[in-house]
Amino acid sequence: MVVVLEQHATEQDVERIIKVLHDFGFDVHRSTGINQTVLGAIGVKPDFDTRQLELLPGVAHVYRITDPFKLASRSFHPENSVFDIKGVKIGGKEVVMMAGPCSIESEAQIFTIAKHVAAHGAKFLRGGGFKPRSSPYSFQGMGEEGLKLMRRAADEFGLLVITEVMDSNQIELVENYADVLQIGARNMQNFTFLKELGKSRTPVMLKRGLAATIEEWLMSAEYILSGGNKQVIMCERGIRTFETATRNTMDISAIPVIHAKSHLPVVADPSHGVGIRDKVIPMARAAVAAGADAIMVEVHNDPDHAKSDGAQSLFPEQFDELMTQVRIIAEAIGRSIA
Ligand code: PEP
Ligand code: MN
Repeated sequence: MVVVLEQHATEQDVERIIKVLHDFGFDVHRSTGINQTVLGAIGVKPDFDTRQLELLPGVAHVYRITDPFKLASRSFHPENSVFDIKGVKIGGKEVVMMAGPCSIESEAQIFTIAKHVAAHGAKFLRGGGFKPRSSPYSFQGMGEEGLKLMRRAADEFGLLVITEVMDSNQIELVENYADVLQIGARNMQNFTFLKELGKSRTPVMLKRGLAATIEEWLMSAEYILSGGNKQVIMCERGIRTFETATRNTMDISAIPVIHAKSHLPVVADPSHGVGIRDKVIPMARAAVAAGADAIMVEVHNDPDHAKSDGAQSLFPEQFDELMTQVRIIAEAIGRSIA
């Protein structure tokens, strides 16, 4: 940590700050320039609250130079983490496609969509049985019945299953059907839930919270990793900004930022990222170009009558168009589609 002092800081201020740093257990290196003093505080304290220094008289700025997350950080694990999920590798050279409806609605719906996306290159079937809806009056999902249908459809067409678990008390049930547990944006900082997920050995895809910084999102990943579950996949799904032209603002820059800070794979979800069907394909292309390890999109056989997120769901033919385009983009950056 670097502590930059104010130009008018007195010698007494400097000594007090050094004492406080020592009391917190840091070694201190002092550099005194012509106008300003800078203190280097050496010591790894991931939970140190820099405001405790910022408050002191004479302190101008405090900069952390190590990240507060450890297991998620690239310095802890310099190589990319590659998770082999029943033969499908996430985080390697190949970009994995995940597709399916927002919600599982019926046997005919999930089988029709699964058949289509499998035939056109998806490796994972997405879809929710338990849905986190903003309104209690909206469709809440088919529950376990839906998960049973989804598992059957996925098995029939050789797909893996990614589906949301909304609560600690559902983990065991959802694990019976899922290959990857999806943690929704609204649960990203449900810390008791994250701790329970840490005890699971099923891979987890952690969606970014609607108003979460990248550091907060990685700290949430740290909760799961520190509980012992090593297979955490990050998912950028758009954040809330002042912009109203799209449902969310898809933060494409989060993809290379996470890759620089962390070894964990990154999935991009442009469906929730922009929330408007005709913007989904351009954002998916951009995400592949930016280095996403997987793309998750909502696809529906009859989006106009979907029970949730129809307006952002691709028509099946649009998924094919997307596949054709992302194959070219992946190749341009030395990757390929799994
Ligand atoms: C979903 O994937 O359908 C979903 C509800 O996602 P999010 O948690 O990102 O809103
Ligand atoms: Mn959705």
